[in-house]
Amino acid sequence: MRTVFFDVDTQIDFLYPAGALYAPGAEKIVPRVAALNLYAAAHGIPVISTMDAHSENDPEFTRFPPHCVVETASQRKPAVTLLEKPVVIPNRPGDITIEGAQQILLEKQTLDCFEQMHLAALLDKFNAGRYVVYGVVTEICVKFAAFGLLKFGKPVEIVTDAVCELNGEAGERTLTEFQALGGILTPSARLDGVWAPGSPKVPF
Ligand SMILES: [Zn+2]
Repeated sequence: MRTVFFDVDTQIDFLYPAGALYAPGAEKIVPRVAALNLYAAAHGIPVISTMDAHSENDPEFTRFPPHCVVETASQRKPAVTLLEKPVVIPNRPGDITIEGAQQILLEKQTLDCFEQMHLAALLDKFNAGRYVVYGVVTEICVKFAAFGLLKFGKPVEIVTDAVCELNGEAGERTLTEFQALGGILTPSARLDGVWAPGSPKVPF
């Protein structure tokens, strides 16, 4: 059974206090996200890393302060969360080639990653039997990813210590709702084999 990891929006603007849309405490999940991504690479599990990639006058900036503008430093992911062989999939028509990539940097302009025009084809290609979701922020983009994946009828897990919310109550509500819909809450220590001998060293 193939697993696909979903690393949602772990970008500098969301993760660090100087970021434009900082989720308080999010920097604490960075080592866990890094460990999960490394674990995936070591076990041949594809990582889909969704990334906000906004233009300077993006329509989303009427709702949120400007963030993750393409070609700015704060749009990037922390280097520790990047794998050796990434491929960028922009949200525009064209052929997508993912052969040999460990990490798919899936660029998007809206909150819901399922609005990215290539995601459905990617998921079709992977035909996963299990999804593992982590990143930021719990009650918005992680929610869209995890709830959207539940519709495929396969197990979906949220890694509870590798997500971070903007608002504590909203974050908790999201996780409760997720469980009620059949989602699974998994602390990273309980993920199959993450701590098995031979796994990459985990820095936390
Ligand atoms: Zn955005």
